[in-house]
Amino acid sequence: MDENLEFFKQVNINFDKAAKYIKTAQPGLLDYIKKNNATIHINFPLVRDDGSIEVIEGWRAQHSQHRKPCKGGIRYAPIANQDEVKALAALMTYKCAIVDVPFGGAKGALRIDPKKYSLKELERITRRFTYELYSKSFIGPGIDVPAPDYGTGEREMSWIVDTYQSLDLTSTDTLGCVTGKPITQGGIRGRREATGLGVVMGLNEACAEIDLMKPLNLKTGLENKTVAIQGFGNVGYYAAYYCQKYGAKVVAIGEFDGVVVNENGIDVEALKAHQNETGSIKNAPNCKTLPHRDDILFFDCDILIPAALENQIRMDNVEKVKARIIAEAANGPITTLASDYLLNKGALIIPDVYINAGGVTVSYFEWVKNLSNVRFGRLDKRFQKQNFDNIMNIIAETTGKRPSEDLIRKYTSQADEVSLVHSGLQDTMISSFQQIREIQKSLEIKDMRTASFVCALQKVSKTYSELGIFP
Ligand code: NAD
Repeated sequence: MDENLEFFKQVNINFDKAAKYIKTAQPGLLDYIKKNNATIHINFPLVRDDGSIEVIEGWRAQHSQHRKPCKGGIRYAPIANQDEVKALAALMTYKCAIVDVPFGGAKGALRIDPKKYSLKELERITRRFTYELYSKSFIGPGIDVPAPDYGTGEREMSWIVDTYQSLDLTSTDTLGCVTGKPITQGGIRGRREATGLGVVMGLNEACAEIDLMKPLNLKTGLENKTVAIQGFGNVGYYAAYYCQKYGAKVVAIGEFDGVVVNENGIDVEALKAHQNETGSIKNAPNCKTLPHRDDILFFDCDILIPAALENQIRMDNVEKVKARIIAEAANGPITTLASDYLLNKGALIIPDVYINAGGVTVSYFEWVKNLSNVRFGRLDKRFQKQNFDNIMNIIAETTGKRPSEDLIRKYTSQADEVSLVHSGLQDTMISSFQQIREIQKSLEIKDMRTASFVCALQKVSKTYSELGIFP
């Protein structure tokens, strides 16, 4: 196998490994699922602030429409290309199936380095890209719903929804044309942290299993495990933040321009404040700085979380990886050959198609909220509180003592939007993990990636069969 295979081909190698276990699909169905359904390649002009014109190149790939709409982020990166977009769209198909959100897979990208453009230029770029997608029917609440990805965030999503609403004048569902929006524009509480939090929830499940920890010579539980994280953007920051909340020790964090280390545990929030203030994580208080950015991948720790880009761990550097657990917060951070190498060495790889699915899970909640036009918890919050107060009164009357406010606070929480979203996310990450483990055990599959793809292919092929695509 060629180590330098394009990203989409690498995804399809994982598909092929899993396809061998799908015995019930009709002939030809798996071949169809594997293909990318449609891709648009766009070039449009940007008038720069100095009056010059630059051509901006971009893509949107819709890998699958077995469920509608398609769903997937939009990435702004200087190395973006069509193959990458198609690979990421395919991963979205499988990811959505694994976590049971009813979407097909899509992805979009512009080949730009956002740092090289002014705010006004970025706004013009995003609005024009939205127009291009709209004019080609590649965006819409029932067609294709983008979200943030590498190099984009709430700000870009707010430009997208605003532009879309100026074009689609008849629909009442226009807020659902994109997710990851600011709360004030139809976003949902809990989306910002969803991917990083989901990564930690998934890790927590894996670390709780003795069957998985014993071969690694690790104790069960996430508590006190040492963690190194590559990339301190949206996903990396929240993964670090919640790792600490769950009791793990984040000892190293890497960014473009260096790695910071504190063996006693990095103060994650202080590091974010330092990064916001100085534009870099280097020279953060109470941390050593290592000069080479790839040092983070080789850091001696229990858990490595790559949360930057694909193709980071390859055959030319995999030998130096020391972590025993690798949670792929980024999409495709380990090449297929390097992945096989690590598995043979006994490492536990928790694959991207499962572990970073928290983002799309909460995006689904946001989309449902937008279509129903009501905030989660609005209808039942007061009703639940009233019922709860009644139960407390019954306890007080029967026992002669009402539980103290401290005790009540310790064991209960209100059904507000963020609590409901976190709880829905946790339920999803736990039940999908159990499904994957069940498949792994029953089919005696060695690695969690193949089992995750089997889980996805079972569901996608079942949906297609039920739709009667191949009568
Ligand atoms: P982001 O742009 O917010 O952050 C990425 C960070 O990685 C940036 O700060 C960047 O400087 C850093 N980085 C880039 N190359 C690096 C390198 N070689 N070494 C160290 N740091 C490097 O992007 P994000 O939204 O956090 O996405 C990160 C990854 O997670 C991507 O692969 C994305 O596809 C995946 N992902 C994101 C989401 C989401 O909800 N945002 C959901 C699922 C998967």
